[in-house]
Amino acid sequence: MKAAVLKGPGLLELDDLPDPLCPKGGALLEIKACAVCGTDVKMREHGHRDLAYPRVLGHEMVGKIVEMDANTHLAEGDKVQLWPGIACGKCRSCLCGADNRCPSVKIMGFNCDGGFAQLLALPKESFPGGVNLLPGNVDPALAALAEPLACCINGQEQACVSKGECVLIYGGGPIGALHALLAELHGADKIIVAERLQDRIRLLERHTHEVMVVDPAEMPLRSWLAAEAGGTVDVILTATPQVRVDGDLLKMLSPGGRVCIFSGPAPGNYQEQIDLCSIHYHELTITGSYGCASRHNRQAVELLTSGMIKADWLITKRTNLAGIEDAFSHSSKRAGMKSVVLI
Ligand SMILES: [Zn+2]
Ligand SMILES: [Zn+2]
Repeated sequence: MKAAVLKGPGLLELDDLPDPLCPKGGALLEIKACAVCGTDVKMREHGHRDLAYPRVLGHEMVGKIVEMDANTHLAEGDKVQLWPGIACGKCRSCLCGADNRCPSVKIMGFNCDGGFAQLLALPKESFPGGVNLLPGNVDPALAALAEPLACCINGQEQACVSKGECVLIYGGGPIGALHALLAELHGADKIIVAERLQDRIRLLERHTHEVMVVDPAEMPLRSWLAAEAGGTVDVILTATPQVRVDGDLLKMLSPGGRVCIFSGPAPGNYQEQIDLCSIHYHELTITGSYGCASRHNRQAVELLTSGMIKADWLITKRTNLAGIEDAFSHSSKRAGMKSVVLI
């Protein structure tokens, strides 16, 4: 099969690999679509904590079952979306709906091979919870957005985004945009996205309803908040590494406010001085999220396929596997939003 293999930092190559076999108790899939994540771009350039070379990248996957050994309601020919985690299914985290926190979790496209390939061997651990049946007529590129949307569902669950609240999102790329759409769905009263890139600002303004986009290069965010939003917000979500979660950021939170460190902080911003008294007196919460649980993927598939979240406008580049360089450069240039490789 053809696959895009990362062989070392900066070395992403299209290779012929032996076709994988259908694992015992699992399934063999033909990949239909795999979206490019910011983490894929980061991994290609700099590696990642959970990455070992050589590796087929790609964890935002949609495929068709071509061979089945698992005993489930799914059958050969079914189109499915995948949770990229492979967890034990038995530990406390797995049993309480947080299988992304399983101590032995592996992630396809990180610790084992992922979806920028023609075929994928899906292990028995993925069944039944990690495989979500899709309607036959769904656009596979759209369904590939379910995994990043699931990550946003997880982040907003950690930050308890609720009806009537004021939510500030740093970064208006694909993740910031998905966070904004989800906050609209959660009934947030004010949604503010801080973004500097004009193309992204235009897209956000055209395709969202309740969202205010602020360009911090034009007006400092703090002054904007003081003038337009009473000075503070209930929730801050980081959807870019270019934000410092420090004492100054916490001053933008209302009493009871929450900040979710969703995007991994940039090197140099790993350690900050935080005023614990402000957390105590204002009952603030600093939380984080990494990836998503399998149940978040089920919710995300439902939201996208029912049209409750309309996200097709986020796909600004479609390529085939031979055009994977194009897909990666569209993402790393950050001019549009999301690239999807159709296989
Ligand atoms: Zn991702
Ligand atoms: Zn587990």
